[in-house]
Amino acid sequence: MSFSPSNAVRAARDETPAGARSMNEIASAIRIGQPGSFAALGTAFLTRLPAAPVEDPYLVGLSRETAESLGFDSDVATGAEKHAFAAYFAGNPTRDWPADSLSYAAVYSGHQFGVWAGQLGDGRALTLGEVERDGERLEVQLKGAGRTPYSRMGDGRAVLRSSIREFLCSEAMHHLGIPTTRALAVIGADLPVRRETIETAAIVTRVAPSFVRFGHFEHFYSNDRVEDLRKLADHVIDRFYPHCRNAEDPYLALLDEAVRTTADLMAQWQGVGFCHGVMNTDNMSILGLTIDYGPFGFMDAFNAHHVCNHSDTQGRYSYGRQPQVAYWNLFCLAQALVPLFGANLPEEGRAERVVEEAQKVLEGYKERFGPALVATMRAKLGLATELEGDDKLANGLFEIMHANRADFTLTFRNLSKLSKSHASGDAPVRDLFLDRAAFDAWAALYRERLAHEPRDDAARAAAMNRVNPKYVLRNHLAEQAIRRANEKDFSEVARLLDVLRRPFDEQPENEAYAGLPPDWAGALEVSCSS
Ligand code: AMP
Ligand code: MG
Repeated sequence: MSFSPSNAVRAARDETPAGARSMNEIASAIRIGQPGSFAALGTAFLTRLPAAPVEDPYLVGLSRETAESLGFDSDVATGAEKHAFAAYFAGNPTRDWPADSLSYAAVYSGHQFGVWAGQLGDGRALTLGEVERDGERLEVQLKGAGRTPYSRMGDGRAVLRSSIREFLCSEAMHHLGIPTTRALAVIGADLPVRRETIETAAIVTRVAPSFVRFGHFEHFYSNDRVEDLRKLADHVIDRFYPHCRNAEDPYLALLDEAVRTTADLMAQWQGVGFCHGVMNTDNMSILGLTIDYGPFGFMDAFNAHHVCNHSDTQGRYSYGRQPQVAYWNLFCLAQALVPLFGANLPEEGRAERVVEEAQKVLEGYKERFGPALVATMRAKLGLATELEGDDKLANGLFEIMHANRADFTLTFRNLSKLSKSHASGDAPVRDLFLDRAAFDAWAALYRERLAHEPRDDAARAAAMNRVNPKYVLRNHLAEQAIRRANEKDFSEVARLLDVLRRPFDEQPENEAYAGLPPDWAGALEVSCSS
């Protein structure tokens, strides 16, 4: 191996590379423990440890865009240094790692399926450090790189199947314009991993400004460590929401940011038919990013009560409940922040005032989410103006979609072909409904509404096609890529990523990726096992 992270780290401190064109430069661009970084919070927040090495790792998938956003030349992954790249992002040591450049696992706690679960933490994630690029700092994390002090009964590994799903979906979400952690690469290793069956291991490199979760705050709250709680909140404020410092109560302002970003995220999830599957508080990002892709799914046939996670027998995290669950999770976050609230209030009556103020901020969720969802739906329906009753119109469509199990993505995509003046363009969307009369009745209302729109059909269709994707990561598409990858053919991972990079474009050569799922897709199950 030709590069030395320790020397490189030192070199990079003096000079930020304009672009990392070798493994030496990539390794040196990933720095750990910089002032203001999560790692700098100290040992109460994390444990430093190296990854568990794997033999003969190899590249399964690569996002050139994520590489670029990190300032890495993506050709390093596929060129002469490809083995070094795979080894590095599998977490393999390349030389002795000085203690201060060791990766770390963070501790957090959380509520799982509505029940307090106590301490959790990065059981299989290790953060390598962060990259500074154009003034933005991005953390680079390996998922599946071995056991940590927070692994509990787990093996610290992730399987190839779920790693490919996380890799593809985080990139797909980004290209849909939905806040998310990103993925740089999937590295495979022929290491057997026991789940329901024996599978092989893989490591995903995830990238995000921060991996802090609601559960981080709950951890310090539940352990009565108020000063660490404050340190964590200060870290998030200083790094991401410095304007909160000007608020009367910076920590309430932080809660308000979480409320705002989470409400917006929920409106976006609902707008593309995305189901997360495990909305536990430890899987909720303080920045309102989609995080921890496990048994997620984009709905094919619309069912308002769709549960994508086979392990979720109660349907707690069904599609229709996501916005409500997010609110419940925000409540847990608010509870955890209570010790920080109201520092400037007079002692007398402080406790009551703090609860009142926190409730007011939480109430803001409903004020934000409702209009955000209506705005999303207006855009999906191609309505440039706002009229009373638009929400009813959207709900009417969802009702018949639900009753007919109409395909979520195709319904909205094909709706753009409908004309405001005649029914000749109805067929592509109408044919998705078994009950044609129900569709016709709704279409009549929609046309009435379109009569109040200033845009002509072509302008409306163009706008709709910018918000209603043609291509989403349907389960069966991911499955096809996974089956091929299990045979060591990774071309479908690359091809699918390429399709999902342009979800709103017409891609005539990729029409097959936009079609209804095949019959066998109905039998696919995803569970917490990943
Ligand atoms: P999840 O619901 O997948 O986000 O995981 C919940 C908790 O279990 C987190 O603390 C994870 O780090 C941990 N975990 C999940 N799978 C494993 C595994 N295979 N090994 C170690 N820890 C795991
Ligand atoms: Mg998790």
